[in-house]
Amino acid sequence: MADKTPDFETLQIHAGARPDPATGARQVPIYQTTSYVFRDADHAAALFNLQEVGYIYSRLTNPTVAALQERMAALEGGAGAVCCSSGHGAQIMALFPLMGPGLNIVSSNRLYGGTVTQFSQTIKRFGWSARFVDTDDLDAVEAAIDENTRAIFCESIANPGGYITDLDALAAIADRNGIPLIVDNTTATPYLCRPIEHGATLVVHSLTKYLTGNGTVTGGVIVDSGTFNWSNGKFPAMSEPEPAYHGLKFHETFGPLAFTFNSIAIGLRDLGMTLNPQAAHYTLLGIETLSLRMDKHCANAVKVAEWLERDPRVAYVTYAGLPSSPYHHRMAQICPKGASSLFTFSLKAGYEACVKLIDSVNLLSHVANLGDTRSLIIHSASTTHRQLTEEQQIAAGAAPDVVRLSIGLENADDIIADLDQALTAAGA
Ligand SMILES: *Cc1c(COP(=O)(O)O)cnc(C)c1O
Repeated sequence: MADKTPDFETLQIHAGARPDPATGARQVPIYQTTSYVFRDADHAAALFNLQEVGYIYSRLTNPTVAALQERMAALEGGAGAVCCSSGHGAQIMALFPLMGPGLNIVSSNRLYGGTVTQFSQTIKRFGWSARFVDTDDLDAVEAAIDENTRAIFCESIANPGGYITDLDALAAIADRNGIPLIVDNTTATPYLCRPIEHGATLVVHSLTKYLTGNGTVTGGVIVDSGTFNWSNGKFPAMSEPEPAYHGLKFHETFGPLAFTFNSIAIGLRDLGMTLNPQAAHYTLLGIETLSLRMDKHCANAVKVAEWLERDPRVAYVTYAGLPSSPYHHRMAQICPKGASSLFTFSLKAGYEACVKLIDSVNLLSHVANLGDTRSLIIHSASTTHRQLTEEQQIAAGAAPDVVRLSIGLENADDIIADLDQALTAAGA
């Protein structure tokens, strides 16, 4: 047993953390500092040349943030990780070394609403573009890829509908085309799904959700598998001499850590989307109980979804944890421990009843967040997916008669009782 590889439950508490060398502090301290004293001028020069790894300035690296990066890399089974100030920051940071004017990504059309907006509108200002496809239609994915495509992007369990994506099939297409598969694993977390084991190159997260788990932090992370060949001619930022580092070639110099070093040395240095150490500390605390929370989130979600599905006021429930879901068969392949606790249901009485339902809940909170200890409810069409056309809303699983739930850790019967009274009050 001496050389047993630690399991997920052990890594979520111990990976990246060690007693503080200065004080012996057992919990990872919040290194609330901007800068770090260099040993001498040679040490400073070596750090600035990337010849030695160490701490220079907290826009680039910070010991509390580094502990979280190491933990996330361990939990996802990656070579390295870079934290960012938000999930959306992580998405831009993931694309940054890959992209350039005129280049595109092929993206699933089933995405977090903010990501649809980021990809369909904002990235155009960088000269990048996204082509949205139904990732269940593998021929459409393949057909959308051209010589300017630099990544395929999808969510493992897609927000808000709870669709499960066939990551292995998308990874095979990405592989054939010499481009990375980027998976947003926010809804699943690495406890339920490990995209790198299904062929993903980069895994991005909003730390804001289940990872921190209690609605206290805005943050993001990118985990790199360390296995992608960045020197295939398509990714000059990774393979060609970098003028800002004396002609250093990231892939040649850092191998499996090329993406991680590039994201710190170029991405964080120049885009500045840095996670702060206090946020990293809260997220480290949250991750310590991730497996326990996700088991309970999933168990509660199954109970609530089963109850809703039986209720005559409800048209349909999209939870992939229900045997009736068209995505249920993918659970065994992608997320065998559970389908997380984010799903939608549709009211037969339509849009107005959805709005009244939201105004009638007591225990559930009406907020634009998910993955909290508290159960949350939102009407996506009038909020998170409001900027989308009705066609985009329907494609994203946020049609006007649909309500999104993020089931928390309360007693499931209490959550059901609150939904029951609110459905009655809404005249559904
Ligand atoms: C919330 C969320 C994001 C964006 O994360 P922020 O931390 O809010 O920037 C991206 N993807 C998914 C699936 C999300 O749920």
